[in-house]
Amino acid sequence: MTTISDAFSSKTYSDLIGTLDLQTKVRLLTGADAWSTAAVESIGLGAVRVSDGPGGVRGPEFPGGRAVALFPNITLLASSWSDEASQEVGRLLAEEARIQDVKVVLGPTVNLHRSLLGGRVFEAFSEDPLLSGKSAAAFVRGLQESGIGACVKHLVGNESETNRNSMNSVIDEATLRELYLLPFEITITDADPWSLMAAYNDVNGVAATEHEHVNNEVVKGEWGYTGLIMSDWFATKTAGAAANGGLDLVMPGPAGPWGQALVDAVQAGEVDERVIDDHVARLLRLADRVGVLGQQPPSHTDLPRPDGPERREQLTRLAAQSMTVLTNRRSTLPLDRGQTVALIGRHAIETIGMGGGSAQVLPPYQVSVAEGLGALLGEGVTVVDGVEVRVRPVTASAPYMTEPETGEPGIQATFFAADGAELGKKHSRSPLLNIDLGEVYDDYITSIRLRTSTQLRGPVEVGVYGAGDWTVVGADLDFVLRLTGKGFGEQIIAPPAGSGVINVDTSGLVEAVVHLAQPMGVRRSDVTGDVSNPLHFLAASGAYGLTVRPVPRPVSEVIDAAAAAAANADVAVVVVGVTEEQETESMDKTTLRLPGEQDALIRGVAAAAKRTVVVVNTGTPALMPWADEVDAIIWVGLPGQEAGHAIAAALFGDIEPAGRLVTTFPTDDGQAPAWSVTPIDGNIEYSEGKFIGYRGHHAGQAPAPAFWLGHGLGYSTWDYSDAALSAAADVEVGVTVTNTGSRTSRETVQLYFQPAETSEPVRLVGWHGVTVAAGESARVEVRADSRVMRRWNTSTDSWEPFTGGGHLLLARGLGDVRATIDLLGAA
Ligand code: BGC
Repeated sequence: MTTISDAFSSKTYSDLIGTLDLQTKVRLLTGADAWSTAAVESIGLGAVRVSDGPGGVRGPEFPGGRAVALFPNITLLASSWSDEASQEVGRLLAEEARIQDVKVVLGPTVNLHRSLLGGRVFEAFSEDPLLSGKSAAAFVRGLQESGIGACVKHLVGNESETNRNSMNSVIDEATLRELYLLPFEITITDADPWSLMAAYNDVNGVAATEHEHVNNEVVKGEWGYTGLIMSDWFATKTAGAAANGGLDLVMPGPAGPWGQALVDAVQAGEVDERVIDDHVARLLRLADRVGVLGQQPPSHTDLPRPDGPERREQLTRLAAQSMTVLTNRRSTLPLDRGQTVALIGRHAIETIGMGGGSAQVLPPYQVSVAEGLGALLGEGVTVVDGVEVRVRPVTASAPYMTEPETGEPGIQATFFAADGAELGKKHSRSPLLNIDLGEVYDDYITSIRLRTSTQLRGPVEVGVYGAGDWTVVGADLDFVLRLTGKGFGEQIIAPPAGSGVINVDTSGLVEAVVHLAQPMGVRRSDVTGDVSNPLHFLAASGAYGLTVRPVPRPVSEVIDAAAAAAANADVAVVVVGVTEEQETESMDKTTLRLPGEQDALIRGVAAAAKRTVVVVNTGTPALMPWADEVDAIIWVGLPGQEAGHAIAAALFGDIEPAGRLVTTFPTDDGQAPAWSVTPIDGNIEYSEGKFIGYRGHHAGQAPAPAFWLGHGLGYSTWDYSDAALSAAADVEVGVTVTNTGSRTSRETVQLYFQPAETSEPVRLVGWHGVTVAAGESARVEVRADSRVMRRWNTSTDSWEPFTGGGHLLLARGLGDVRATIDLLGAA
């Protein structure tokens, strides 16, 4: 066993474990609260505090909490195809963690983009396992070289959200190894993450939290993983089976399925105490690695502020350099500062910087495209609002809503007990507030009053969030509403919502009262008694909210105004996208179509404008039936708090949008190798096997896509010459790339391998990014990664290399293959 640093340098983990009784050891294996592990003074063990990522380090409050930096989302970052960029993000997240005394960031997510309907696709790197694994490894290195642990999630087969707590992913062993486990394997081999998270779902009939084969045989056995496997939040269903099945830590706590039940299981001989000791040793190793085992926590004084100049520069650059130019007719992009711009669309005003769910953070500010372009062009830009993009009402911006007593942005909540007594008051800077796990009041909360002051007058649309019976009070128009929740978890991440119209009088006050379907919160008297009454604990959380926005205008009126503005400008820039209603944890999408009448808006503008640029503000692929009607399309992901500055920099070429897609964009719903996310009899069959994404499109299992993984034009053009195999043993290919455009640009040379065996899909095996000045050339060497030059033999239960040869393809995405080299089979 490894020796412990500092104060315990002469002791091993087993020495420390030997001083603990069974009860104490088992207590350590369930969280002490929602976001920390338990501490034990006698062995110098402090609490390991964890916080969600990967979009930022949110801290313990959800939603709301302190203002922290909001990073570009993972699919956007991954589009840089750059290890340096991923590692830099890891380093910056470590700084955000240190400011908050967080020791482990719950990320990155390495599940694959199997079906594009998956609600969390925006949060995971790619449809390709090598790109996912290598990007994740770089991200983990960035975090851990700064002393902050990563938690790679969700192990494994968690590619969709529908019934995520109970669904079973049915995946054959070869596909599991070659695709879904591979990013975990690469991350573990290349970066040794200090923790992993076991998923909610079952895999081939066994809960991921109890998966002997995955957790013990493969991860801890074959790969020799020495880190800790924690459960996803509330995922653990059993005591003995999970403890024996490789799960080391149940999160959150203090209540949960282990505790006394696990002590009993040990005493009954169902679980060997050495299994418990191994879990504890892994927890101690994690604590040791993050510096809370016998060590003094370091003090941090000079870390960058989330709204300081350093973060602004980093977040703008990281977002802009990954944005991806999909089409660019008549060299419409980059724009010229002398051009007048009609900037159109709801996403121009409310640019979406992040997806929904546990990856959300509360940023200090969010720059819209209107603000970003306005800062650059001043009078040269005319901003026109677009069509509605949400079904659920969300406030447009802070001026619509301020706390009635303090005048600060946000809402005020007052909690009441059944007898009408006021229990407490809270201010939330976001339109949603959370009653957090473990919030303690004198009594249970049975009703909540939400208030806000708005600058709007007359008819306004008011939205309310959260389960219960609502009454919304206006000047002379009230409405009542019953909202039913989908149960714990969803109640926080995607609370039920409804809306209605009220009249706001000169006071500007909007008030809504909700009578809860079931009492919430933790009652003080329960805490002094049995803290771990699971019923109270589970009922303690929920999200409630109040939003106000102007009553929506008719679509034809909006499109006419947009077309008129477009006709008067040199170029129309239409910003479209999805919102957290589509891209969120806990729910899958039903379509890749842009919500609302955004397609019609684009067509209306394109018909009237001299030139039309479409900015697609989505984390994941969207359908673009208008692609041939517009001059240029740029995909900008969910660009974080600097969204508007980054998009402006990309549009004007101040920073080259040199991204390459990490996922294939299909032409229509269903036109991809894997689609449905609805379990049948509880099962999702991964029946397309190894043929997800570009692999399946290339094999003819789905029609040619709109844009392939790897596609991206940047702001130059490229010539490829002299492609040759340089080192046959390792499979390395050299090629000369010449920048034939007029600007310095970055090219990402991609190498694919098509094995001779027709049953095997083409796959990305390597890539290399290079920046070349206009007119110049560079020789690039790309080495194939051996971990995708092999297959899993299910008869021998082992890896074997391809021996039949095949073709190596140098391509800018498989829609633009520049050179093909034969790879001979073994003689
Ligand atoms: C998510 C995890 C997250 C955890 C804690 C779960 O619902 O699946 O990704 O880390 O909550 O917020």
